[in-house]
Formats: sequence, structure tokens, C-alpha cells
Amino acid sequence: MSEHIIDHYANQIPILPGEYLPAYLARLRKMTCGIEPRRLMSFSGSTQMGKLHQLFPRVASCFAYRPSERERSGALLQEHLGARYWRGFLDERAYKEHVQQVNLKVKSKRSIFDGEELLDSLKPMKFCEHCRDDDIDRYGTPMWHAAHQVTSLYVCEKHRVPLHQFSMEPDKTLLDYPVITNFVAAKSASVQADPLRTWLDVASKQLLKIRTIHNRERIKDIKSDMARAFRAKETPYTMRVNIEYRNAWRSYAADSLNALCPNEQCFKFFLARPSLGLTQQLKQNAPVRHPLIFLLAMKFAEDMVGGNLS
Ligand SMILES: [Zn+2]
Repeated sequence: MSEHIIDHYANQIPILPGEYLPAYLARLRKMTCGIEPRRLMSFSGSTQMGKLHQLFPRVASCFAYRPSERERSGALLQEHLGARYWRGFLDERAYKEHVQQVNLKVKSKRSIFDGEELLDSLKPMKFCEHCRDDDIDRYGTPMWHAAHQVTSLYVCEKHRVPLHQFSMEPDKTLLDYPVITNFVAAKSASVQADPLRTWLDVASKQLLKIRTIHNRERIKDIKSDMARAFRAKETPYTMRVNIEYRNAWRSYAADSLNALCPNEQCFKFFLARPSLGLTQQLKQNAPVRHPLIFLLAMKFAEDMVGGNLS
């Protein structure tokens, strides 16, 4: 099989250790500006990179699962897309189906988790000032780190300082900011820890430490613990949870999302979806709609009944 042009350039300009994959693709595209984008991007079947900053963007799936990368697709997604944070929330069959569909249907806009478009505002680009200085010294490139982009992670694990957040203008994408330029650094601000962010940060790092198969088992156990905590009654067909818990969950989730992103008005509407109700978070066979929603349900359970689920 002849080498695809993306392989040629990916060898010449390799991804840096821990670099965020969507940002790397944007950087690669910028550094090969003499190459027609249609040729460079044809591995993904489209010149458009699409929505880059999702948990598992289409272009990242096409890049990681291209023929020359098959041997290390999983490792690549783990190091460069924080895959352990989200992959344990899907069973292997659902994951493989998603990859297959996305890679076949070049125009698929399907997100791997429901509601990503609405939670977008919770995902500014993030970086650590110290890591940025280190990367400039070491590589000459102030790259975006994959670990820092995990939705509910707020503190650099290496330097133990709050991450800086940078919100792109509505008409801009990562293609405009492939690295952390001085402009980005000047427009960013660090977000101080509060109890909710600290809890989410710890829970997110825990997910990143554990292999996907073990995360899957752990999530099953947590679902059972939560169901017990809320005295949920599960039959093969239904699950019953006290209405007071269910109502309290909706307002807790709306308040938490608003606290994490005060400008967003649509969370109440978003959380009215049946798939985001408390019952759905407890059922073993219901798919998790978004890791962040599940983490909030865990925190809610801990607050309501006391104790530690993680
Ligand atoms: Zn750092």
C-alpha cells in the first residue's frame, strides 16, 4: 500500500509527547501550508476538520484509525486525546460501532456522547503556564496538552497550579490557535478552585489513571452504589427512584453546570431531557450520555447520602 501524504508529514513533523491530537492536526495543517488541504486531509474523507474540540472528534478518529496507525490507535488516543476519561463510559461494541460509522460516513456529525454541543461552553482551551514555559524550552513549541483539555480537569497534575482558560471567539476554531501563542496567553485567565471543581478534578484524574476495562467495571460498581444510596427499585424493565431525589437532581445538575459556566442559559432545557434524568444515571444498561453528567450524579449522590462513592 502506498503511503498517504499525511503519513509522510506526520513522520516529518511528529506529534509531541502528550500533545492534544486535534491541536496537532491543526498545527500540522498550518506547517504544511504549501500542501493543498484537500490532499492532506483526504485521510478523513473531507477537507473540513469539522468540530475539533469534542471528546472524540471525527477527524481524530479517522487519524487514529488510519491503516498506518492501526497498531497503536488506542495508545495514541490515550496519550493524545485523554481517551481514558471517556472511553470507559462506552462498552466496547458501542465504541467500535461509533468508530466504524464515523470513519465510513465522511459527513457524520454524530458526537460520541449526547449533548456535547450544549456542553461546548464548558470546554474552553486550557493550559498550564509552567508547562508552556517548559515546552518552549524543550521543543520550541508551546503546545496544547491533551491531559489539560479533559473537560472537568482544572489543575495541572505536574505543577499543581490552576490551569488557565482561553475561550475562542465564536467564529474561530483550533485551526486559528494550533499552539498557545502570546495572544492566547494574554487573553487567558486562571480559574481558581472551588469545592465542586476540586472534586471534579480529582474524579477526572482518577479516570485517567485506570485502564478502560477497569474503568468500565468501576462505573458499573458506582452505578450499583448510587442505586442503593437512592433506594432505587430495579426490575428487568424499569427502575423506580423517589420523585424528590429526581427533582433534586435536576436542580442540582442545572445549578452545577451554571456554576461551572455562568453565562449559559440553556442547561435547564437541556437537563429536561429524559435521558439525563437521575434514573438513567443509575441503570446498568442505560448508556452514559456524557461523562461530566455522570460525575455530577456521583457528586450529587455523595452529597445527598454522605459517604464516598469513588
Ligand atoms: Zn504544568
